[in-house]
Amino acid sequence: MFAQVIVDIAHSQVDKIFEYSCPETLTAGSRVKVPFGGRVIDGFVIGVSRTSSFPPEKIKPVAEVFEEPPALQKECFSLMERISSRFKVPKASVLRLFLPSEMRQGKVREVYRKYAKLKDMSAPVSKSAKKQKEALSFLSEHSEWDYTDLCTKFGRAAVNALCDKGAIELEKRQIKRNPFKEMQGEESAKTLTYAQRNAIYSVENSDKCVQLIHGVTGSGKTEIYLQIIAREIAKGKSAIFLVPEISLTPQMLAQLRARFKGEAAILHSGLSAGERFDEWWRLRSGEAKIAIGARSAIFAPLENLGAIIIDEEHDASYLSESSPRYDTVEIAKMRAEYNGCKLILGSATPSVESFSKAEEGVYNLISLPERINKKPLPQVIIADMKKEVRRGNNTAFSLALREELDATLKSGNQAIIFLNRRGYSQKVICRDCGYVAKCDFCDITLTYHSEENCLKCHYCGAKYKMLSACPECGGIHIRYSGTGTQRVVSDLNALFPAANIIRMDNDTVSGKDGHYKILKKFAAHEADILVGTQMIAKGHDFPSVTLVGILDADMSLYFEDYRSGERTFQLITQVAGRSGRADAAGKVVLQTYCPENYILRYAVNYDYEGFFQNEIKIRKTTSFPPYALICRVMVTGEEEAKTLSVLKELYFALEEIFKSDKEEFLFFNKMRSPVKRLQGKHRFQVLMRMKSDKYLEEIYAAAVKFTVPEVLVYVEENPANLS
Ligand code: ADP
Ligand code: ZN
Repeated sequence: MFAQVIVDIAHSQVDKIFEYSCPETLTAGSRVKVPFGGRVIDGFVIGVSRTSSFPPEKIKPVAEVFEEPPALQKECFSLMERISSRFKVPKASVLRLFLPSEMRQGKVREVYRKYAKLKDMSAPVSKSAKKQKEALSFLSEHSEWDYTDLCTKFGRAAVNALCDKGAIELEKRQIKRNPFKEMQGEESAKTLTYAQRNAIYSVENSDKCVQLIHGVTGSGKTEIYLQIIAREIAKGKSAIFLVPEISLTPQMLAQLRARFKGEAAILHSGLSAGERFDEWWRLRSGEAKIAIGARSAIFAPLENLGAIIIDEEHDASYLSESSPRYDTVEIAKMRAEYNGCKLILGSATPSVESFSKAEEGVYNLISLPERINKKPLPQVIIADMKKEVRRGNNTAFSLALREELDATLKSGNQAIIFLNRRGYSQKVICRDCGYVAKCDFCDITLTYHSEENCLKCHYCGAKYKMLSACPECGGIHIRYSGTGTQRVVSDLNALFPAANIIRMDNDTVSGKDGHYKILKKFAAHEADILVGTQMIAKGHDFPSVTLVGILDADMSLYFEDYRSGERTFQLITQVAGRSGRADAAGKVVLQTYCPENYILRYAVNYDYEGFFQNEIKIRKTTSFPPYALICRVMVTGEEEAKTLSVLKELYFALEEIFKSDKEEFLFFNKMRSPVKRLQGKHRFQVLMRMKSDKYLEEIYAAAVKFTVPEVLVYVEENPANLS
């Protein structure tokens, strides 16, 4: 037998299929070790055959076959071809997407646990060995007990002594790591409302592959997803359910676990390597049939897919930021086509691109304009911060927000105070010369953290000592500017001394349970006010929250990006959706310096349709996506001169294309990127806006051609972030 093997080296020069002789039993999808260029390396078997076109003396045998079921399924090979040709990446780097990284690095093993069992009650135990006797009598009441736990209870010495005397014996057994095992509970399907039943009917009977569910927050989209999944599982199929990483909340996971039990596997970056590994194999072996996770779970090893669901489809986290830079929705379409199943996109604020596809009839559009039980959407009060300043109020809180907070606390309800991502940076500025502290490796302003009294780079995580004097002019008048979450909490404490306040942001959340603990506390009403960033914008359902305050609604309007209006609309709608989800009516106070802004107007009235019609007109007249394609080719490297010379070569190659068809290009230029350095790497870019994707393939090919070991060149399509 002969095996067609792709070696696990992500390099264009070895991006070929190699042939080895192999045992009869080897099947496609297996992982092997093969001799390659004087070494033995890992490889993926993508096919086996009886004959070979190579002369027998040229063929080497496979060195070793991994002792495991085939890791890759047939669909992987079809996706491998499509993805590698689409993004011009080596096949090996596509295959890696399908496997948990723990598996390739061989770091993870099965876990064993030792159990102690009573063996011989009559073994000689001296009267003075009190602990040993206690351990023995404990074991006689339990048939067996975890060895480690037994040692904690009675002391390792005592337990080991009992083993030596033959009174107890130990047994090693493999256990499957079970993430979130504390989340047990029962949850059954809800009786669907008329609108929900209609939505499911529409999905199942549509002749279109892609379904867009546009439903206001609280319209019961989640229940629709869960019941679609349940129906597919009942038919013997499997399903993938994707949510943005930050809304993969313990609350949501607990609900899914309770609903689907062991049928659901969770692929989550917060899991330990071992847990991820075990969850992955549960899916691959067919033990679990539902994959739940963030972006990368689109590559879940499931066969016979019945549905793929992407919740909050507008979320920027669905764009991959490392090679290959895929859009999850595009990969999902490939998988849906292969499996002949539906792809269901859902959002309260669909991306302009998706909604326009629905308007054109490419996607099937399903609208849910009302909340469950016709609960009203929260009333939005606009607080004009310019007026507040004129009135002499220089705090971060408008009068309206203070009054509403007061009323909320008095009525025993809870409030959420939301700060935009940018709002949390507290810059450190020298008042004498205007120096602003920046990271040594990144072109990024440092942020002050009062708890540790240090400065941090929010991009690379580097920490610096707080400045006692300005490094530029030696001045000692250092001050902070900007309002951070820490600052908001201390101001709130001063305003409402009796209230319990908790903060949730990147600094307070750590570990896979970090989120869970804070949210659990808040859900149990152990705190009255939750202050947070982006993290609290999505997916949470707290029945007693009746007030949401948005401190700086304008921040995202300042991004110089064609999507800034869309982002602002999405953010406000999402955050507002946290208020008034149960019986009490909700309110939202939105603080802004530009109350007349049209985006805010649409958001306040929950007018997605109005927002969309206005936005799509702007996109059309200014020729921005979906009426054009923005393409950025990034050139990054540590050495400036080398990076520049690659940029030059690349630019000339791209300029050839541009000159050959100037009509096609709306914009074409090379420049430094807005963030000039990141993690010690210089960043340059060729930025293009084109009428179509006509030249996309050539652009990818050029990027591959000019990449050298020291300088990375990569292509981004409609990037979520142009920094
Ligand atoms: P969305 O995902 O659209 O924001 P959710 O799925 O969170 O909405 O639903 C909002 C609330 O309505 C949740 O508390 C949910 O438990 C409840 N809910 C959803 N469907 C039903 C139903 N059919 N009957 C009763 N309550 C429901
Ligand atoms: Zn940095």
